[in-house]
Amino acid sequence: MLTFHIVTLFPEMFDSYLSESILKKAIKNKKISVKFYNPRNFAKPSKNQELLEPIDDKPFGGGVGMVLKAEFYLKAIKKALGKKKNFEIIYFSPRGKKFDTAMAKEIAKENKKNEIRDLILVSARYEGFDSRVEDIYPGKRISIGDYVLTGGELPSMILIDSISRQIDGVLGNIESLEEERISAGKFYTRPAILKWKKKEYKVPEVLLSGNHKKIEEWKKKNS
Ligand code: SAH
Repeated sequence: MLTFHIVTLFPEMFDSYLSESILKKAIKNKKISVKFYNPRNFAKPSKNQELLEPIDDKPFGGGVGMVLKAEFYLKAIKKALGKKKNFEIIYFSPRGKKFDTAMAKEIAKENKKNEIRDLILVSARYEGFDSRVEDIYPGKRISIGDYVLTGGELPSMILIDSISRQIDGVLGNIESLEEERISAGKFYTRPAILKWKKKEYKVPEVLLSGNHKKIEEWKKKNS
């Protein structure tokens, strides 16, 4: 089983996404497992006892934004690693290697051969965390696209989703077929004639014809 170990300051953000549909089933059927480690839990109460000690601070050398302190991330990653041997650490950055289906397949495949069984996904916030974290625990740097997000939580969810789809038994037969048809561009279902604001919108005639050869040709043309 592939276990995703998520290091994040906001574990609750994952609740709704993981408790619905295909991923919910994948967790229930023990195809994947997801665990959380909150760096904030490694902070101690500060002197006035009410607040925890700050986990971020101003960057050395100046600059805008706050930098997350190394210590709490190191402790969270260390906890996630435990005594594991077959693990890979993934950090997120808009300047990392661009994530795609080929990478998702590769990770799922390696898991099949039991080479990697634990993925540690480390989500940053603000400017990111102190760079010494990556020196101490080296890992892959992944970007999910050419835009800047507020944190690594969405990227983590995207990796969990796309990698899980590539694990045997996570998708049902019908859904797997849909995966193959990723390039099909147009879809219709009932009703054959849709009425909207006094106008009628018809399904292309050929799809209702029952002529399989013509239908396949149409699908190819519209993919
Ligand atoms: N100044 C930082 C960006 C901070 S964005 C830098 O240049 O790396 C805050 C965090 O959100 C990042 O540390 C990363 O964890 C996440 N993030 C933002 N955009 C992302 C993207 N396109 N892909 C993956 N992670 C991203």
